[in-house]
Amino acid sequence: MTRDGRAASTARRSAPACRGRFAPSPTGPLHFGSLVAATGSFLQARSRGGEWIVRIEDLDPPRVVAGAADGILRTLEAFGLAWDGPVGFQSRNDAAYRDALARLESHGALYGCSCTRSEIADSSVRGIDGPVYPGTCRDARRNGPALRVRTAAEEIAFFDLIQGEVRCALAREIGDFVVRRADGLYAYQLAVAVDDAAQRVTEVVRGADLLFSTPRQIHLQRLLGLATPRYAHLPLAVDRHGEKLGKQTYAAAIGGHEPVAVLFEVLRFLGQRPPDELRESDLDSFWRWAIDHWQVQRVPPQAPPVGDPAAAARQR
Ligand code: GLU
Repeated sequence: MTRDGRAASTARRSAPACRGRFAPSPTGPLHFGSLVAATGSFLQARSRGGEWIVRIEDLDPPRVVAGAADGILRTLEAFGLAWDGPVGFQSRNDAAYRDALARLESHGALYGCSCTRSEIADSSVRGIDGPVYPGTCRDARRNGPALRVRTAAEEIAFFDLIQGEVRCALAREIGDFVVRRADGLYAYQLAVAVDDAAQRVTEVVRGADLLFSTPRQIHLQRLLGLATPRYAHLPLAVDRHGEKLGKQTYAAAIGGHEPVAVLFEVLRFLGQRPPDELRESDLDSFWRWAIDHWQVQRVPPQAPPVGDPAAAARQR
């Protein structure tokens, strides 16, 4: 099934234009893992003749680092990752998120929740992405401070171009989830569902750490009557200890001094087979080759640790 779906997706090269996006949180400099996401989303869109946009996810002021958004954009430019149109900023989309909450509310899909993190941790079973909310406030008719969306018992299924068929019974595996946080900020899940639709994104290509966010976003899309894009979740760049590469790790390596050499490693990490000479090419030739030869079906669902050449060689 995975193979059939992949073949169908790559055969769609001549399909109407698609739009991909890269949506970094400005919490630090662009690191290897985010460069992987930028490159994968860029190539998936450009290889199909599509547009590629950048959206800065600056929804969480306490986590935003001053100057990080500019730094990320400058690094993308230095790597030749040219985006279309103006850069979007989630911090400017308040009205759209408020409107989406009002629509969810009018469907009776929301309820206020006053549980603390530790109360939830104490009373919950562990699900696929943290504790499953046990529904303590579901029928309590509270006003908040957080707002949760009701989930249903039915499975949400989607076909991921890299990870294959994914199924998730939201109510059992995740539980009713937060769409407006107790501190009044809109939650990531809500903002992304609203923005991807508003920006007419058709291809969401991002790290596999967000794989189980996707059923939540699809749930919101359905409640809000929004289109569901295609999804591809890239292998996560982890270090030798299996830890996701942080903003600091590898940051020095992508300072933009030798962009082609770094991008060459990114392509290999993504299972592509660039010829050795490409490492010495200029940026334009590099991207021409990468766009012409991108094959999403070569991307491995999981990749060996970054900085472990022996494991990388075994993978190839
Ligand atoms: N802003 C998220 C991050 O930097 C990515 C969100 C997404 O691609 O949906 O991890």
